Amino acid sequence: MIYDLVRYQLVDENTSSMKRENVLLVSLGCSWGKCTFCDYQDDKSSSVLACDSVNKKVLARVKGTEVGSTILEVTCSASYTELPFTTINYIRETCKEKGIKTVILEGHYIYREANPFFINFFNQYGIDVMFRCGVETFDEHIREDILNKGLPNVTPEQLAAYYQWINIMFGMEGQTIEQLEKDISIGLKHFKRINISIYTTVKNGPKRDLAAIEKFYNSSFYQELKSNPAIDIYDEWDENNEHKVGHDV
Ligand code: SF4
Repeated sequence: MIYDLVRYQLVDENTSSMKRENVLLVSLGCSWGKCTFCDYQDDKSSSVLACDSVNKKVLARVKGTEVGSTILEVTCSASYTELPFTTINYIRETCKEKGIKTVILEGHYIYREANPFFINFFNQYGIDVMFRCGVETFDEHIREDILNKGLPNVTPEQLAAYYQWINIMFGMEGQTIEQLEKDISIGLKHFKRINISIYTTVKNGPKRDLAAIEKFYNSSFYQELKSNPAIDIYDEWDENNEHKVGHDV
């Protein structure tokens, strides 16, 4: 089912050192589909035409150089490989038309071998590709036994061979600031950028640990992360933007 969601966002200097436009497109569906924290994979359609008609409208909102941005971040309810090829083509045309020089594609590690095809496809128009992967944590037990992420025994080095940017998640029951510190330290060593998502409880998923999140926001570590230009922090529940972090689209 295609949901009525916020599908376009300008990520400006207030939330990130990397000014960019973000689009949330409709995919054909996530074929992994097992992550226990994921409540967004239902935003999909098995019809290429239905995906394309929404995606075309969303991409029409991209302004590129008109708003001083040359970077387009493409997200969807699955991986970039699970967008229809016609949509991928619209993305490339939009980039060309709007002066976009870098496209960010996000997806699961299982599709890593497809990356060179995407690089080649966008490079034909002089557009660079940056790949982002949801890792969530380098704690193997939490990532695989609790989150069911599907990266068993995958090392940071193996991930970094394919991805330049990773997502880390914090704030679910069982996670500690000490583990987050380890995750960030490993992340900064191997990747160019890190997104930290403050966890939101989902139906049948792990619970949000409010005390741990509050402790994090009150810590000097949080201040340190906030001032690091390689890190973006997102908190969907920070309704009033009290902590001046970004909101997920
Ligand atoms: S790979 Fe992404 S879209 Fe698929 S279930 Fe996991 S988090 Fe959800």
